[in-house]
Amino acid sequence: MGKVSADQGSEMSTRLKVMKFGGTSVGNAECIARAAKIIADGAREQRCVVVVSAMSGVTNRLIEAAKAAQTGDASGAAAIMDSLRGQHETALASLVKSGQERDQVLQKMRTVLMEGRRFCEGTALLRELSTRTLDAISSLGERLSAPLVAAAVKQLGLQSEAIEATELIVTDEFHGGAEPQMERTREKSQARLLPLLERGIVPVVTGFLGATPNGDLTTLGRGGSDYSATILGAALDADEVIIWTDVDGVLTADPRLVTEAKTIPEISYREAAELAYFGAKVLHPKTLRPVMHAGIPVWIRNSFAPEQTGTKITPQAQSVGGGVKALTAIRDVTLISVGGPGIVGLPDVVGRTFSTTAEVRANVLLISQSSSQNDICFGISSADAEKTVEGLRKEFAQDLEHEKVEHIRVDPHIAIVAVVGQNMRGIPGIAGKTFNALGKEGVNIIAIAQGSSETNISFVIEEQSVVPALRTLHREFGLDRAAK
Ligand code: ASP
Ligand code: MG
Repeated sequence: MGKVSADQGSEMSTRLKVMKFGGTSVGNAECIARAAKIIADGAREQRCVVVVSAMSGVTNRLIEAAKAAQTGDASGAAAIMDSLRGQHETALASLVKSGQERDQVLQKMRTVLMEGRRFCEGTALLRELSTRTLDAISSLGERLSAPLVAAAVKQLGLQSEAIEATELIVTDEFHGGAEPQMERTREKSQARLLPLLERGIVPVVTGFLGATPNGDLTTLGRGGSDYSATILGAALDADEVIIWTDVDGVLTADPRLVTEAKTIPEISYREAAELAYFGAKVLHPKTLRPVMHAGIPVWIRNSFAPEQTGTKITPQAQSVGGGVKALTAIRDVTLISVGGPGIVGLPDVVGRTFSTTAEVRANVLLISQSSSQNDICFGISSADAEKTVEGLRKEFAQDLEHEKVEHIRVDPHIAIVAVVGQNMRGIPGIAGKTFNALGKEGVNIIAIAQGSSETNISFVIEEQSVVPALRTLHREFGLDRAAK
């Protein structure tokens, strides 16, 4: 890192990496300058495509503006746009001193914000916010941050160009959570970006967004810039993707809950995906999908501490510490159980229960059924609880009345903890060790699930037991010793 000799530029390697910077990594002028330094160091060694998020907090503000407009509050929306303009212009003023470059970026930012204002005015007039308009508004943050970052890179003496991903990433029409069409994305990205790289220009691409084949702007879902980075990594056959964020990598547990948590040097795609699913918010859950096939490694690194090596995510990572790699917890879970002895004779209870959860679009996190079939219970995020229970009461109204289903029970103060590790498979005794340790600690287990893939054991406990459960297991599996 950082040891680049002056003549290395002429014999630049043909390797290519995609570097993505999250919202906190471009959160203000100082952070952007730090990111630009990392980009410049990287781009002097090898070809480098940059993907950026909006400055932290900006996407939330934009969504707030859209919602205000939807209620008819045009001036509220305009006030948010004004404050965003102030925020970006302040950052620009401290990053770019030279008049001409500064004017150009300023012009670009004003055009983008003007578009935003018009979308909000239209929305306020109609009091109607389509998912398509929401995408157009919520993606403005990336369209503002990319020119800022490109300008900061130029300040360090490199050539750079901000590019909107509507030119690169082709998606379906599912606004708010669009999926890429990889073949077309590949064609467009290569045609647009490779010639720039050839000429030594560092492309800075807006994360989070894409466009349908007709050119309608779409977004990939909240936190989707990680996904943008791996989509581009796959489309360009990159050698690696680096996600620069504000933590040292993937940790053995949430450090706010377990102070001894350590960075994991290497982890497999599967493990990382399990962790993302179970609430370790380091990666967008879909991030690894595009690169899995080609086996492109993905790094998680800390832009605030670039001297740290971070975590490398590879197809098949080595195992450390008896197969268990990390612990994770999802809080704010509600456990719902449908049951009573009467359901034994009702073979379709399972089917009807989960058609109901699907109908109300509740995300089911864990399912467990006792083999006596007296009870099916499942965990969902508490935000989905009300609509789910309502749906189930409706679905089983008659059965409840005739006492075929005895109860639909709701327990709101629940958490799910998962013990994750790909190589747990085939190592007997991990479940035993887990529950033994928890028993000694006096943690009451409400339900247990293990997938047949054996990459995680998850269990349901009371919310208040999360911290003791994590700490005990962290010690039990020697995770405090895992790194180094
Ligand atoms: N700016 C978007 C969001 O906040 C995308 C991202 O940051 O990954 O959801
Ligand atoms: Mg993010």
